[in-house]
Amino acid sequence: MNNQPVILAIDQGTTSTRAILFSATLEILAVQQKELKLHYPHKGWVEQNPEAIWQDTLEVCHAVLEHNVSMVGSVAAIGITNQRETTILWDRKTGKPVYPAIVWQDRRTDIGCEQLKAQGYEPMVTARTGLLFDPYFSATKIAWILDNIEGVRSRAMRGELAFGTVDCYLLWHLTGGKVHATDVTNAARTLLFNIVEQKWDADLLTLFDIPEAILPEVRDNAARFGMTDRVLFGRGIPIGGMAGDQHAALIGQRCFRPGMVKSTYGTGCFALMNIGLDFKPSQHRLLTTPAYRLNGKMVYAIEGSIFIAGAAIQWLRDELEFFQEAAASEALALSVPDSNEVYFVPAFTGLGAPYWRPGVRGMISGLSRDTTRAHIVRAALEAQGYQTRDLMEAIEEDGGHHAETIRVDGGLVANKFMCQFLADMLNKPVEVPRITEATALGAAILAGLTVGLFVDLEATGDYWQRDKIYTPTIAETERERLYAGWKTAVQSLLHASRN
Ligand code: ADP
Repeated sequence: MNNQPVILAIDQGTTSTRAILFSATLEILAVQQKELKLHYPHKGWVEQNPEAIWQDTLEVCHAVLEHNVSMVGSVAAIGITNQRETTILWDRKTGKPVYPAIVWQDRRTDIGCEQLKAQGYEPMVTARTGLLFDPYFSATKIAWILDNIEGVRSRAMRGELAFGTVDCYLLWHLTGGKVHATDVTNAARTLLFNIVEQKWDADLLTLFDIPEAILPEVRDNAARFGMTDRVLFGRGIPIGGMAGDQHAALIGQRCFRPGMVKSTYGTGCFALMNIGLDFKPSQHRLLTTPAYRLNGKMVYAIEGSIFIAGAAIQWLRDELEFFQEAAASEALALSVPDSNEVYFVPAFTGLGAPYWRPGVRGMISGLSRDTTRAHIVRAALEAQGYQTRDLMEAIEEDGGHHAETIRVDGGLVANKFMCQFLADMLNKPVEVPRITEATALGAAILAGLTVGLFVDLEATGDYWQRDKIYTPTIAETERERLYAGWKTAVQSLLHASRN
């Protein structure tokens, strides 16, 4: 086995950092993982320690490579995938961050986004970036650091500082500070990258008052990003692939044809449809984003982002102490025939697509004297189906394609009740692949492509295997009755909230 080439995928997520070793036939050989802390210094602020992100990455890579026999010599390439939008500024000489990483969930720039929206800039920004004004994206986070941390703006203007999302920061460290680059999917989440012209947009840089000197070079998803510093692994290893987590999952799920959809259920839920070679702005406040770019050819996707999915289950476990393990939610949900008219809208950090109401907060409605824990748990799992249906209707209209099936992945798809309800609510088959680590798999595919382990992207489709398929079972009238109840719950929440 030691002579066979392997691919090392780094999956740097919001709550953990993983290193996964894949064979050249895309089987998982080994996994190492480390939990990553989130810090909440003020209400609505979410930060992480960039140095911990880098140290954890190095640690899990060493652990996975040195686990049994050393695999370092066999690694043909490294692929990186990452939590998107999270913003880091660091000193180009020392590598020291000037401020903690501002995490994608951070809402400190809510007001700034509202002001820009009120000034009427949003249509221009959407036409160029495919995005909306929301604190979620990097631009207002970068501007916040430049404006609030003493001396940072002048250092940035002098070219002393580098900005990067987590992929870019890791690449910089992996290459010993030699390469400051990112890929189109990560660049596209900054609000500064024009995804139609495929370059940093001078007008947007002016709008957000961000100096171009801090920006990385933008490359294809499969590209020669650089070699690792020999000090790290004893030899230089090519870094051949890079993509934001949701784009990597789209690749891992082999959604290479227009109309194919993947939906990932982790902390949040992100559904992406491949829409082919033409940029189409959304008519439903979804996002248009690069699916991937290979050999300079961009394929676009429509994306629906829901901020809270599995996090609602975590909340029921940790705050309401309804159960000890997330997996126990399945038996509880199945212990009752229905949710007893309870609806759970898990808008803990505002409502994402297609509503985009950052100021709204969550709600459990329809409580009566005979409501039990089981009903609330069931409603939390059903919410995943309703939220996805909200998205899918909009995605299909925007993308101009009817999705035949939906390929799912992420921690929550271990829950069979959730997957069945999803199929019932979407009225579509829901497919679970044999390897549900779709994100890391996507990074591995990109890296393998660059070093010639695969002929082309399509060739990797041969290795996709389905583990389970859930087909719709409920009657049309029941499906629509349940969904109408969700719509009513969401509308009452939107009306009740001023933001
Ligand atoms: P992330 O990559 O965003 O950290 P994961 O894909 O690892 O998330 O998924 C973890 C999430 O899935 C957690 O929020 C957890 O509550 C939820 N989860 C895991 N297993 C189950 C299960 N069997 N039933 C319901 N939720 C689950």
